[in-house]
Amino acid sequence: MQNPMLKDKTALVTGSTSGIGLGIAKALAEQGANVVFNGFGDAAAIAALQADVSGRCGVQTAYHDADMSKPAEIEAMMKFAADRFGAVDVLVNNAGIQHVANIEEFPVEKWDAIIAINLSSAFHTTRLALPMMKQRNWGRIINIASTHGLVASVQKAAYVAAKHGLVGFTKVTALETARTGVTCNAICPGWTLTPLVQQQIDARAQRDGISNDEAKQAIVAEKQPSGEFVTVEQLAALAVFLCSDAANQVRGAAWNVDGGWVAQ
Ligand code: NAD
Repeated sequence: MQNPMLKDKTALVTGSTSGIGLGIAKALAEQGANVVFNGFGDAAAIAALQADVSGRCGVQTAYHDADMSKPAEIEAMMKFAADRFGAVDVLVNNAGIQHVANIEEFPVEKWDAIIAINLSSAFHTTRLALPMMKQRNWGRIINIASTHGLVASVQKAAYVAAKHGLVGFTKVTALETARTGVTCNAICPGWTLTPLVQQQIDARAQRDGISNDEAKQAIVAEKQPSGEFVTVEQLAALAVFLCSDAANQVRGAAWNVDGGWVAQ
């Protein structure tokens, strides 16, 4: 690419060793951004991923293994990114986990972990990124919420609470940065076929004694009028758009990409 849109910018994507975060990190690198990866996984596989992205996109990559449930580790990661690249220009708060159970049976430690990883981590990364972004008068904060940030489903109390919270936090961040070159928006995906969702497909297949394909179809048919999964590439393309100048006045949006889920 002759003059890539994010040349000399640095993107930090939490939970980017898998699924949606990985797709977004790759797409931002393709736009010329240096990338700080984060998330769990096999060290050799992560090193190979970094080498692939650096080689293909001609950008620098780094990796930090901060656990997003631990504020001190998040602080260490943000300092690492600033020391290595000078700043974080694009922050994608993507790391997330799920647990499915009725409220009465919901394990307290799962509630605490989901709130910490899916919601509080975005507060910590944002509070540490904003001074760097404001200093340069440019920044993009993209929070990966969910349709569950807009509507609810049974058995997902912690996840729905965290994602609604993340949409609210997105709006406050957008208002507090409204007169700057920093924007903050949320992307609200519907069912996207990633390891996080595969776990729920496996559980459904086992519960109902059906095949993997039948479970996939059942899960999508319940919620998404299109009858199709969202793809990681579609979400990554929206993230790239939110980084563009065309999105300078897109602020505080919670943009659903969901096959019509929340239109119902
Ligand atoms: P995934 O399981 O494929 O990826 C999750 C990533 O987060 C991995 O890289 C994992 O290592 C990382 N992670 C998990 N816990 C972490 C922690 N404590 N610290 C650091 N990293 C951690 O899941 P995904 O489907 O790609 O989900 C990504 C985001 O998208 C999540 O926030 C999820 O809630 C959201 N989302 C997913 C869907 C979907 O259908 N897949 C729909 C809506 C929203």
